[in-house]
Amino acid sequence: MNPRCRELLKRCSAYLEGDMESACCKEMEEHLKSCPRCRAMLTEVKWTIELCHKTPAAEVPPEVSAAMHARLREERQALKAAEAG
Ligand SMILES: [Zn+2]
Repeated sequence: MNPRCRELLKRCSAYLEGDMESACCKEMEEHLKSCPRCRAMLTEVKWTIELCHKTPAAEVPPEVSAAMHARLREERQALKAAEAG
């Protein structure tokens, strides 16, 4: 794996843990411009987090909520696996 992709994946993990500061930086944005793979991964991660955070819990049927959280868990694990290389 490209070392820059590995670095970006670590930041993705931070993003998933709620640490937006360390996830958003210029270097990462630059890398995303040239790396479709990381771009797709981050888009997916962002989409899942936004869905989890923006949808009022009361409006989410329990099975949908469970599915979203399962999805987040999967992404976390996928990122950790990718970091491990
Ligand atoms: Zn990359």
